[in-house]
Amino acid sequence: MSEDRMLQSVTCLGCGCGCDDLTVRVRDGRIAELSPPCPVARQWFGDGSVPREIRTDGQSTTVEQAVEAAAALLSGAEHPVVIIAPDLTTRAQCIAIAVADALRAEVDGTTSDSAAAGMLVAQRRGRAAASLGEIKNRADMVLFWAVDPRERYPRYLERYAAAESATHVRSRRFVSVSVGDDRGPEPAELAAQFAPGEEVDALAIIQATLRGRRPGELPPRLQPAVAIAERLLQGKYIAVVHDAEALGAGRDPQRVEGLLALTQLLNGPTRAALSSLRAGGNRSGAEAALTWQTGYPMRVSFREGHPHYHAGRAGLERLGSDGADALLVAGSVAPLDHPALALGRIPAVVIGPRASAMAGARVAIDTGVAGIHEAGTGYRMDEVPLPLTSLLEHPRGAAATLGLLLSVLRRRAEAKPG
Ligand code: SF4
Repeated sequence: MSEDRMLQSVTCLGCGCGCDDLTVRVRDGRIAELSPPCPVARQWFGDGSVPREIRTDGQSTTVEQAVEAAAALLSGAEHPVVIIAPDLTTRAQCIAIAVADALRAEVDGTTSDSAAAGMLVAQRRGRAAASLGEIKNRADMVLFWAVDPRERYPRYLERYAAAESATHVRSRRFVSVSVGDDRGPEPAELAAQFAPGEEVDALAIIQATLRGRRPGELPPRLQPAVAIAERLLQGKYIAVVHDAEALGAGRDPQRVEGLLALTQLLNGPTRAALSSLRAGGNRSGAEAALTWQTGYPMRVSFREGHPHYHAGRAGLERLGSDGADALLVAGSVAPLDHPALALGRIPAVVIGPRASAMAGARVAIDTGVAGIHEAGTGYRMDEVPLPLTSLLEHPRGAAATLGLLLSVLRRRAEAKPG
């Protein structure tokens, strides 16, 4: 008889929106339907099937033997690196950090360079953030800066920034700014376009206008900046929306600094919050867990026996440059892209969803995916924790497997003479 189940209020980690209102139909051990429809969610969930292999040096083995081999490889390294990759529950992320501590390793999540830049700016200047719920219920003016959320965050508008029902606003007004190829959404009450080289000047002109300073004669292409400032002052609560994961050439690294300064300035005459769109897979959870356990959200080193911030290159970038001689990837290896991984140059242990897909891994243990096979907690882009459901069965959870590795590492450490 075919199994047919309908699960309600399922949380999706397909992007950082963390929508927790999905209905999922499971039939014959596969995900058959998702609603409401979202193309990114459809891709992230797939039909829920993932591999279930356990391999050591390419040979199938038991989980106990694979974990022993992983512990031997990692504890024998001088400079191990632990990468907390996507699609883990926060409990599994915490255990991966404890593994890094036990190994005196470097540990990092998969925070993108642009998101990392935003965090460092916020540490320097302070934050001007709000929960997505507050934006939904209070923002009567939304400024989209160089992002149309519909592309990578498909339901951000309908659930938050352009939600039809809200407790404190009846209507909203939209200002859309495009920068080069980074287009803002249409239609909007006011739309402007700047070239990438004009972006920082445009932000400075908006800030000057908000301060009540009239800029002198402006070139025609920058004149819309004055109109944007004047329009923003008509709002009671302004959400400034940008893509914290914007990558690639042509993006000005000072964009996030300028947007944060603008948002803080708006908090004089009105109320404003910066809404930073983040990718999914519980990346925000990894940053939260690192902060609880080490004091830093990324790029942490335990090499000296205590956590300290290792400024500079992110975890994956360090593989080829800092003498890393062993690697543990905890999480989904699929989104990682680094030549050292592809070529198998560094002896690697992979514990997570689709681990066996990583060519050249010395130890690969496939686990379920957080929010599809493994229940727990995941974090939305605004750092609100959400429950994750187990929809399908998988023989192994990442948290339990990493916990097994941690206990073997501790046992080996206790057994060491001296
Ligand atoms: S918007 Fe993001 S979190 Fe929401 S359903 Fe789509 S992919 Fe999932």
